[in-house]
Amino acid sequence: MKRARAEILSTRRVGAYRSITLVAPEIAERSRPGQFLAIAMPEGRAFILRRHFSIHQASRHGGWAGTLEFVVDPSVGAGTGWLAGAGAHEFLDVIGPLGKAFSYPKRLTNCLLLAEGRGAASLFFLAQELVARHKRVDMILGGRTLESVFKPVDAKRLSQTVVVMTADGSLGERGGILDALPDAVARADAEVVYAVAPAPTLRSIAAFCREHRLPAQVAIEERMGCGFGLCNTCVVPVATKDRSAYENLRACVDGPVFDPSRILWDRWLGELPIVPPTAEPVPAIPHGGGEP
Ligand SMILES: Cc1cc2nc3c(=O)[nH]c(=O)nc-3n(C[C@H](O)[C@H](O)[C@H](O)COP(=O)(O)OP(=O)(O)OC[C@H]3O[C@@H](n4cnc5c(N)ncnc54)[C@H](O)[C@@H]3O)c2cc1C
Repeated sequence: MKRARAEILSTRRVGAYRSITLVAPEIAERSRPGQFLAIAMPEGRAFILRRHFSIHQASRHGGWAGTLEFVVDPSVGAGTGWLAGAGAHEFLDVIGPLGKAFSYPKRLTNCLLLAEGRGAASLFFLAQELVARHKRVDMILGGRTLESVFKPVDAKRLSQTVVVMTADGSLGERGGILDALPDAVARADAEVVYAVAPAPTLRSIAAFCREHRLPAQVAIEERMGCGFGLCNTCVVPVATKDRSAYENLRACVDGPVFDPSRILWDRWLGELPIVPPTAEPVPAIPHGGGEP
């Protein structure tokens, strides 16, 4: 984890979002898919805490080496609105990379990646790393409208197939990413699932993967204060490996990537009665350590 005063190299609109590219070599060279940045806001009472953003790209080689890209949904609040208005040659105070990255399967080959909205940003970085390891990648991208589906055209360069789902039917099929999951798993002969979406959608994806005994990893976005393990704001109940109990893990340092079969979704989301984890574990992704 490094702190940098990073210059904004460029910004651009990507559908409903703003993509920001920074010059931050020390952070870029350590960054892995699934990790995130903590970005300081302007001074003022409204902005005591840093805001957190998933890493979309980190270039370690070639002409763009040392750059980092992240994606902002400007519609959320004051912090994201402020960032979306930042321009080239301004400087941001950035800490990163934070959190645990996705791990890559060692033996299994067919990877299905699904995301809703700008959640797809970190999956593009993951897809690149998987393709570099000779894995097959298929994607499902969703959004409320065509504007909120993240980079569907670019996705075609990385994936064997891309299914696009929109709530209003303005792009691809009408519906949510969950609707496309069973067919996509069958068509891609998926062996591993990776997902980024709002927590209720992830809960349903977890249930599907559990039922079909598919190893999966999800990146969650629990609200967090510090982002590096000090404040305990972002705890998530996660079953122990033997599933006999659970512990409250911090999404910022123990996540944001988790095995969804071990999250106690009902307890975490607090909407339904508490269901203890089942004794039967779902196979974890046999990974190569998350290192390139
Ligand atoms: C690990 C992680 C990765 C993230 N990656 C991205 C990303 O790549 N792009 C992006 O645009 N956003 C991302 N977010 C969410 C982003 O950090 C928040 O939307 C942002 O902090 C909101 O700041 P704000 O000042 O604009 O809004 P605020 O004024 O702070 O909040 C506006 C509203 O949004 C709610 N809110 C704030 N943060 C969250 C949250 N984390 N979850 C649910 N509700 C929240 C608040 O309660 C409030 O109702 C990520 C969050 C986490 C934890």
